[in-house]
Amino acid sequence: MKIAFFSESVADESALKILVSGILQEEIEETDLPNKLIYRSCTHLDKDLPAVINAVHYNSNAEALIVVSDSDDTPVHINDHEENENEKCRLCQLRKAIEKSLSKLQTFEGKNLLKVAIGVPVPAIEAWYLIGINPQVSSNYWIRFQNGEKIRYDRQKLKEQVYGTARPSLKLETERAIEESTRIVENELIEDLETNFPQGFGKMADEVRNWK
Ligand SMILES: [Zn+2]
Repeated sequence: MKIAFFSESVADESALKILVSGILQEEIEETDLPNKLIYRSCTHLDKDLPAVINAVHYNSNAEALIVVSDSDDTPVHINDHEENENEKCRLCQLRKAIEKSLSKLQTFEGKNLLKVAIGVPVPAIEAWYLIGINPQVSSNYWIRFQNGEKIRYDRQKLKEQVYGTARPSLKLETERAIEESTRIVENELIEDLETNFPQGFGKMADEVRNWK
């Protein structure tokens, strides 16, 4: 399947390609969309999202797009948001922005509407990379932190555990992202990611499987 990826860094995207291939149990084919945005933050992601959706739909051969952005300090998406959208929640924000962009796209013969799946790592993608290594990583554990409990990790500690430093180079970030996502797929830990991150990862995985 031809899938395009848009997230906060090219390092994340190398990992996402491996993880999504693990979910689909098939190779992800290269798309002809050149990704020139190497350094991004969630602000860039939001700003560029409508243009990226347009470009992927009209100017690439991708059938689908994966959008991933860390939850950072925003409230964790919970089932209640399905009924009552939370404006501060990253997943709710992205869903709304994507729906808006998709509603403006035109379809024509040979061009179906672009399929989009959203992933929101809680609190950052490094928590996903540590599944099977750090027994604590889960969105419920992070919710306890947001409720004022003292817990054993934060974003910086997760980065240190993955990269050996809280400020890795892009090269190191990419190497580690590839290593850990390959380990996750090879050790069949995709299901554990879905269990521990039911909204941010599980919903993305369900959507991706629907594409088959
Ligand atoms: Zn939400």
